[in-house]
Amino acid sequence: MAKRDYYEVLGVSRDATAEEIKKAYRKLARQYHPDANKDDPNAEEKFKEIAEAYDVLSDPQKRARYDQFGHADGQGQWGFGFGNNADFGGFGGFGTGFGDIFDMFFGSGMGAREQRRTPQRGADLRYDLEISFEEAAFGLETEIKVPRMEKCSACNGTGAKAGTQPKTCPTCQGTGQVQYVRNTALGRFVSVRTCEACGGEGHIIETPCPECRGKGRTQKVRTIQVKIPPGVDTGSRIRIAGEGEAGTLGGPPGDLYVFIQVRPHKYFKRRDSDVIYDLEISFTQAALGDEVEVPTLDGPVVLKIPEGTQTGTSFRLRKRGFPNLRGFGRGDQHVRIIVKTPTNLTPRQRELLKEFARLSEEKDSGKSSGEKMDSKSEKKAEGKGEQKGFFERMKDTFGI
Ligand SMILES: [Zn+2]
Ligand SMILES: [Zn+2]
Repeated sequence: MAKRDYYEVLGVSRDATAEEIKKAYRKLARQYHPDANKDDPNAEEKFKEIAEAYDVLSDPQKRARYDQFGHADGQGQWGFGFGNNADFGGFGGFGTGFGDIFDMFFGSGMGAREQRRTPQRGADLRYDLEISFEEAAFGLETEIKVPRMEKCSACNGTGAKAGTQPKTCPTCQGTGQVQYVRNTALGRFVSVRTCEACGGEGHIIETPCPECRGKGRTQKVRTIQVKIPPGVDTGSRIRIAGEGEAGTLGGPPGDLYVFIQVRPHKYFKRRDSDVIYDLEISFTQAALGDEVEVPTLDGPVVLKIPEGTQTGTSFRLRKRGFPNLRGFGRGDQHVRIIVKTPTNLTPRQRELLKEFARLSEEKDSGKSSGEKMDSKSEKKAEGKGEQKGFFERMKDTFGI
């Protein structure tokens, strides 16, 4: 049921003054007041209608809004009277001026609706894959199980039970949209909404496919072969085109992204394409030099530790790091030397160290032997404490 125009209810013109409106209201209120008019069964309804009209037209703000938007504005009527097809015809067809008004007020809305009707690409999927340090270095081929929405094979994605077909939606005649008209002081306004009967799809499924309950897609767990290239790192992602979720209305599927998470290694750390390895050696190995077996991604290699190596010194093993993801070259492995200070000395060891300390002092009058850097070492020792030199540190530590 359409609401009567407020001006019409009060019997005044659209340009009536506040005084005229007040006068008209008082007259009608007296006439239809339920107390004063007990004979008329419609008096109460009528009185309410008058009161409502006056409430709006006596308030300049409410009146201005009503003039602009009619009953549609903020009063809950918009959508009720126009919400179903039965009422729809009551307002007549889409006549003159339709196009202009439509474009002016609802031009953008139409685009949004159009989108809903066209085939939609399926969603992209993310799969988190944890791999080992070595697998990151050399790559791997593996299988992953991905739960995803796929086109229902029972109904071939139509959502209708096998042997039946989706029917054109009678509410919107397959357009997926319904037009709504409202009359206001400014004229007739038309807006377009997604058809609620079919959700904008334009068709209705009378016998839904039991497999997918009419959705046309079902959840499946799919096993997918993944090839991880050598050199990936945590945060690397591999795109597998077309292995995401199925599209709707025949749209293309999305993509699958495999996000890589590399487990930390027991010994190795990674810096870009280089491998960092901390090697502990004894103070005698550091002082006298040695050959030590060092683990690398390719297996153990022998590292020559020169005489007088300082703690914090780093040696480079060329091309023992990670391959470059783009396929060229390989990083290095850096071996950082940590000289272990001996503890729990035996009396004999202590005696020898004291002897050594005495000899060192005589040799260069207390000067640290640690301040000369090995020319072969690529990097200066880190931190003052380590630069101090091993044997001086020994003296500090043991108080000798
Ligand atoms: Zn189905
Ligand atoms: Zn429809």
